[in-house]
Amino acid sequence: MSPFLDLTKSQPNERLFDLPPLAMDSAGLAEDFKRYYAYTLGRDRDSRSAYYTYLALAIVLRDRMAERWKRTRQAQDQANSKRTYYLSLEFLMGRALGNAMLNLGLRDAVERGLLDLGLLLEEVADNESDAGLGNGGLGRLAACFLDSCATLQLPVKGYGLRYEYGMFRQLIENGYQVEEPDHWMREGNPWELERQEYTQRIQFGGRTEFYRDGDGRTRARWVDTQDVLAVPYDTPIPGYLNDTINTLRLWRAAATDEFDLREFNAGSYPESVAQKNNAEHITMVLYPNDASECGKELRLRQQYFLASASIKDVIREWTGLNGSDFSTFADKNCFQLNDTHPAISVAELMRQLLDEHGLEWDSAWSITTRTMAYTNHTLLPEALERWPVRLFENLLPRLLEIIYEINARFLSEVAARWPGDLGRQQRMSLIEEGGEPQVRMAFLAIVGSFSVNGVAELHSRLLRGGLFRDFYELWPAKFNNKTNGVTPRRWLAQCNPALRDLLNDEIGDGWIHRLDGLARLVPYAEDPTFRKRWQAIKQGNKQRLADLVQEECGVDFPIEALFDVQVKRIHEYKRQLLNVLHVIHLYLRIKQGDTEDWTPRCVLIGGKAAPGYTMAKSIIKLINNVANVVNADPATEGRLRLAFIPGYRVSLMEVIAPGTDLSEQISTAGKEASGTGNMKFMMNGAITIGTLDGANIEIREQVGDENFFLFGLTAEEVEGLRSHYDPGAIIASDPQLRDVMHLLESGHFNQFEPGIFDAIIHSIRSPQDPWMTAADFPGYVRAQEQAARAYRDQERWLRMSILNCAHSGRFSSDRTIAEYNRDVWRMEPVAPAPIGAFGGA
Ligand SMILES: *Cc1c(COP(=O)(O)O)cnc(C)c1O
Repeated sequence: MSPFLDLTKSQPNERLFDLPPLAMDSAGLAEDFKRYYAYTLGRDRDSRSAYYTYLALAIVLRDRMAERWKRTRQAQDQANSKRTYYLSLEFLMGRALGNAMLNLGLRDAVERGLLDLGLLLEEVADNESDAGLGNGGLGRLAACFLDSCATLQLPVKGYGLRYEYGMFRQLIENGYQVEEPDHWMREGNPWELERQEYTQRIQFGGRTEFYRDGDGRTRARWVDTQDVLAVPYDTPIPGYLNDTINTLRLWRAAATDEFDLREFNAGSYPESVAQKNNAEHITMVLYPNDASECGKELRLRQQYFLASASIKDVIREWTGLNGSDFSTFADKNCFQLNDTHPAISVAELMRQLLDEHGLEWDSAWSITTRTMAYTNHTLLPEALERWPVRLFENLLPRLLEIIYEINARFLSEVAARWPGDLGRQQRMSLIEEGGEPQVRMAFLAIVGSFSVNGVAELHSRLLRGGLFRDFYELWPAKFNNKTNGVTPRRWLAQCNPALRDLLNDEIGDGWIHRLDGLARLVPYAEDPTFRKRWQAIKQGNKQRLADLVQEECGVDFPIEALFDVQVKRIHEYKRQLLNVLHVIHLYLRIKQGDTEDWTPRCVLIGGKAAPGYTMAKSIIKLINNVANVVNADPATEGRLRLAFIPGYRVSLMEVIAPGTDLSEQISTAGKEASGTGNMKFMMNGAITIGTLDGANIEIREQVGDENFFLFGLTAEEVEGLRSHYDPGAIIASDPQLRDVMHLLESGHFNQFEPGIFDAIIHSIRSPQDPWMTAADFPGYVRAQEQAARAYRDQERWLRMSILNCAHSGRFSSDRTIAEYNRDVWRMEPVAPAPIGAFGGA
């Protein structure tokens, strides 16, 4: 569809797009900035809103990206390259401005240009609010992946939803979490471009009708539906210094302009117009559940809305170039499903190929199963998505029919392979029978995909041997591992400028796009002058973090102390509780006078709890109550501090990771699929205290046992212990844990709030405690003592810190994406013509 469709008499020609290259020097950038500020945004010297300085700068950078964006699209079209679509209900992008400046190579020029106008870049940039369109690790992974795909010049497009309200804002009142809506676009979003012309129509409800087509074949159509429009908004994703700009396309739900005629004729015009709101609710808000399903109809609507709009968009482009010939579609297109959230795509691609493009079942199925790839993100049973068949029947009746047909054919394959094994057929069925039959979305994703991957070695192994064992036996070649990574642009070069400059001085800047290059740091760990410089940088970053903690929590963090940090979603499996029990233990030691050779320690905890997750919210309250007691006690002065930082998000992590000494990665083994916070900390020279879980295992392999504080049961030991787990006996036999439990149970941390921690206490003492907090407590305390001792020997600690950074190369998302491309997507990189090579003056 041409944007000029409405212009019947005009003949727009190429001169319309013939533009000189935009200035990339500080004076030219400042000129553009002034024009946008004064004219486009209409500000004058009376303007008191700093926000517009940010807006003007964003437009300056957006222009430079737009210039390259078009060339990237042209190059990808010309190369007729295969394309991959990253389908995700979450993209936790954070702020865009700093990343755009870094990847365009404009940071210094912008800083100088603004300084010339009397403006401080840091202050200008601080006006941007985070794009918080994700819960945590899964959504942030999608954002890191987009950065790596653009940096590797792979033709990958992100597809997601443009939520009006992102992740809620977290306030702490009287120690309790309070949620506030995050209307992140209230003041506009300068980075996106609406693409009205690519609007799609999405169907819901209605029923299926069968008919004979011109060739006498029986075909289905979905009729009497209630339709919603999907309007795309594109955000540019710049690669690092390579002129590539990829696209993140987010869909907004909009009402059609059709009215319910019956209501309209009954004289309820306003009611009829007001109905439009319902359609727009679909992209109103992000569900704030991390690692658990919510089972709400609106959530299923969101999932289908994303799948249907994105697939229609891809097929629109395909038929535009290839007409109705789908014979090479699977060679040229791949959909990567970020968890089961978009798994309905399997059935939706089938539906569009069958019903809208007239393909036969077998060819449609062959295309689908060569096009879909699925990434699993969790083993937690509460996260396994199942949708009631009844809900599907009402909302997506045609999709349910297709799922039934997929299942029938799939189960005959199972029966042919294992004749008579009814138990296996029942276990593997896409439909879970029972009182309320359910569709198993993970199984739909596996059956419909050619690739199934976990996100760390351990996680992938547990998938093959446990949750997906039957499927692994049927299709071993489908299964593979892709250990997660994080982008070293945002998580080192951008968030830690002092360290970036030191690295560039000593080993050159190649590490920014080839992170393995950090290995060249290894010999520097033995150089005392280098260690001094490393220490000075860490102290500076700790001061920056201490200022943030003072500002946000009103707690003083002296930078000589060990900064011990755990930030991530609050969840029982992540065991923030174990961390608090350790703080209580340290507090008791201080009170008992056991402070010889004490290592001063500042413990920082942050993270959001799902609003309906009562236990996680109680843990936040406990952290805050313990913090109040500990920080108010004069005996802890200079020895121990505890703070809970509200509103954990990407832009906070950019300050937290560089200022951290000790990274807490203490989940119950077998529960954290990978973790990515662990990688950000490692890159910034923090040392991990952690269990053998997720990517911790691979971090320890890289950095060596002597540079990692290990404790806790293994995943196998956790499962082996379940049947006879006896926390009562552990507490009774460990005097330190006994004393901690005694103080907690005495009500010392809830003096005038009786009973509020009973559920927590009960969970620790329960033989059914899935997280086995008590079992790992003694080992955790010992590992913490080792960390404290290591920190007192600053030269040793600095060596460990340098080596952690030096060995973090494997955890670049560039490596992860290169592996996805090598094993799953199989695309060639496409380089756009550099600016100035064609067009322009
Ligand atoms: C990296 C990141 C996460 C994931 O942290 P984990 O420790 O791996 O759970 C969550 N939220 C934000 C804001 C992040 O930056």
